[in-house]
Amino acid sequence: MSDAISEKLKILADAAKYDVSCSSSGSKRKNDNKGLGDAYGSGICHTYTEDGRCVSLLKILLTNFCIYDCAYCVTRRSNDIKRVAFTVQEVVDLTINFYRRNYIEGLFLSSGIFKNADYTMERLVRVAKKLRTEHKFNGYIHLKSIPGASDELMQEAGLYADRLSVNIEIPTEQGLKLLAPEKDRKDMIGPMNYLKGAIVKAEDERKTLRHAPLFAPAGQSTQMIIGATGNRTKTLCTPRISSIRVLA
Ligand code: SF4
Repeated sequence: MSDAISEKLKILADAAKYDVSCSSSGSKRKNDNKGLGDAYGSGICHTYTEDGRCVSLLKILLTNFCIYDCAYCVTRRSNDIKRVAFTVQEVVDLTINFYRRNYIEGLFLSSGIFKNADYTMERLVRVAKKLRTEHKFNGYIHLKSIPGASDELMQEAGLYADRLSVNIEIPTEQGLKLLAPEKDRKDMIGPMNYLKGAIVKAEDERKTLRHAPLFAPAGQSTQMIIGATGNRTKTLCTPRISSIRVLA
């Protein structure tokens, strides 16, 4: 792996650790005694597939550039951090190379938002499409959907990804206005509703047509931060809450 790719991987795997849609992650144990293994900052985490298997994933961001300035996010545009971006082909190559070496069984891909929602989502979809169609990759793919992405891109994403997720981010509309005033809650709820309908439709079609295409067969999930605005208790009702970050 080139130094440039290695540096991007280090930055974008570290930035992805805040997307906690997985059951475990790396720890801080370093290999500083020339021993075996290294659990530090690997960018590899685990999740469960629709049939209950635990699989290891390469978990990265496509980019940590972002046009938004959400107060709770390390990738926010006002944060003074080094910015990098993978190309679509670089993510595809990393996934295939890691898969062939048995490091991973799938990919978890999220992203900061460059230019706009569709511009970013189109790149995430292209990664999954290339993996499925050019490399005949049958491993697990989880794509984070970009809030505000079009229904057409959500539809295409569902044809290639096993699981899609849209982050609700903050449980209340007022909280979101306070911490991420540029964001609109409708941009999160809209894609979630679209996915819900498309998943149900695809399941129905497969009951009568055995070869009807799969659509996000592992379903959709979401993630939110509790406590960022002093909101400690909330009854949650969403398709599936995969993770909740509680701020002390
Ligand atoms: S849009 Fe997403 S990546 Fe960008 S600052 Fe907000 S939470 Fe972070």
